[in-house]
Amino acid sequence: MKTFEELRIAEPILRAIQELGYEVPMPVQEEVIPILLEGNDDVIALAQTGTGKTAAYGLPLLQRVVVENTYPQVLILCPTRELCLQIADDLKDYSKYITRLKVLPVYGGSSIESQINMLQKGVHILVATPGRLMDLMRRKKVDLSGVGNVVLDEADEMLDMGFSESINAIFEALPAERHTLLFSATMPKGIAAIAKQYMYEPKEIVIGRKNEGNQNIRDIYYMVRAQDKYVALKRIVDYYPNIYGIVFCRTRKETQEIADKLIRDGYNADALHGELSQSQRDYVMQKFRIRHLQLLVATDVAARGLDVDDLTHVINYGLPDDVESYTHRRGRTGRAGKTGISICICHVREKRKIRDIESVINKKFEAGKVPTGKEVCTKQLFNFMDEIERVKVDEEEIADLMPQIFRKLDWLDKEDIIKRIVSLEFNRMIEYYKNNGDIKVLSDEPKSKKVKTEVPAKKAKAKKETDSNNGYTHLRINLGGIDGLGQDSLIKLVYQQVGGGIRMRRIEVKKLYSTFDVQNAEVERIINSFRVLQVGNRKVSVEAVPSGQKRKGRRFEHSKGKGRKKKY
Ligand code: AMP
Repeated sequence: MKTFEELRIAEPILRAIQELGYEVPMPVQEEVIPILLEGNDDVIALAQTGTGKTAAYGLPLLQRVVVENTYPQVLILCPTRELCLQIADDLKDYSKYITRLKVLPVYGGSSIESQINMLQKGVHILVATPGRLMDLMRRKKVDLSGVGNVVLDEADEMLDMGFSESINAIFEALPAERHTLLFSATMPKGIAAIAKQYMYEPKEIVIGRKNEGNQNIRDIYYMVRAQDKYVALKRIVDYYPNIYGIVFCRTRKETQEIADKLIRDGYNADALHGELSQSQRDYVMQKFRIRHLQLLVATDVAARGLDVDDLTHVINYGLPDDVESYTHRRGRTGRAGKTGISICICHVREKRKIRDIESVINKKFEAGKVPTGKEVCTKQLFNFMDEIERVKVDEEEIADLMPQIFRKLDWLDKEDIIKRIVSLEFNRMIEYYKNNGDIKVLSDEPKSKKVKTEVPAKKAKAKKETDSNNGYTHLRINLGGIDGLGQDSLIKLVYQQVGGGIRMRRIEVKKLYSTFDVQNAEVERIINSFRVLQVGNRKVSVEAVPSGQKRKGRRFEHSKGKGRKKKY
């Protein structure tokens, strides 16, 4: 394995990437950097996202820029605004010690005037989405005559999104004397056509075998009845308490529905789809990036360009129509050497598709069985135990209280205390699962071998609903959307005011007020701690809402509050 120095990366760039923690080149970098620095060949690189391709083309191309020539010398085309910004940010990081080198992202959905302004000031590297670049070309505001290197990043995605005509038009406007690099996760026919028409004897580089599935990823399918899909999703999510993943849905409507249901059921989730405004999408993506969201429910298109490296899971809520979409979805986990799990919740009719995918990723799926209530409880219990083991004890702060605490619990032995701590966390969950049947698993084996359900879900439903609000009180606070409050800021406010340890659920922010449920034992503490709070001239008040005024039909929501607790 070579070092970046041996690949002849120059000093200012070396310093910048060392600061980013890049110690050794990734395989795609080892292959592509020498070609771009030494040779003049066109390159087609088949590389999944997350393989380090931005630096593979970015480092050598930055090195070849002549800073004195203040016109675009490198053009990078990519499918989405998010990816465009991501690439530009990466290149700015790599070139932070090259004085006066300018990288400009141009993309739709943002002021074209300010982009034109920046262009006129002089730019060396232009990162563009095809649509916006076409717009700039039509207005004659961009000069591509000095472009010596063109990169198509995520070329397959660009074709999928219908940019092939724009790409052709852009190529026609570029100088004939140029090098072209094409990066793509898959190799559909359209890519071969571009290569044939616009590239000269390209070198083909394949990172991993062509179309091979990333071996860091486990692919698991769960075959369930259509009506059990959502419950199966919840079970699976419950089974992985530290999950940080994307749930892919097929349509915008389904995406919103599933996100709404998850939020209503107390999960830390939100939706990302094309019907949201750009600023709403940015907000959701930002929350997800900084892990204020555990689950992002998204359509394929909206999730494009969202670059998050350490997803633990990708969940396919139903299979996508084509195998390529599946490989893109699963490629979002198991990145940068990490492991990941790609889950499909599907119907037995989709079995053929599973086989098709297997033949493309060259790997067998594991047949999963939706975890039973007991399995989920056990898993969560051990996760809780892990948390107890890991929690940092503030010896100094707690020291004063310890004698009192010991005195209070003196009559209990160690075993009793442990049992009580566990019960505090798990009584409701155990109760819930006791009343919920396990999900019917559809198998592709002969009928006699089918796994039986323990309790029909319908029968369990009635009991479950009566149990659902046990031990909780519905509270109303006289602050709402009009005061700039949202779900996140409400949680934060309560945590700041009360000092943490609160498990909130059913949070709703209305215009003038907001409501949420908390455990009965916590009600007094919350009401009292808000007595002292004032916003402007208004006294803030929290009060319990009589049970008759509650909304009905709320189901059990397990302690997803735990996830939140960590964040605020
Ligand atoms: P990309 O495929 O360009 O999106 O890169 C995937 C991730 O790998 C990004 O977070 C990069 O910052 C990171 N990365 C790229 N090259 C290296 C390297 N040589 N060493 C460590 N991390 C890297």
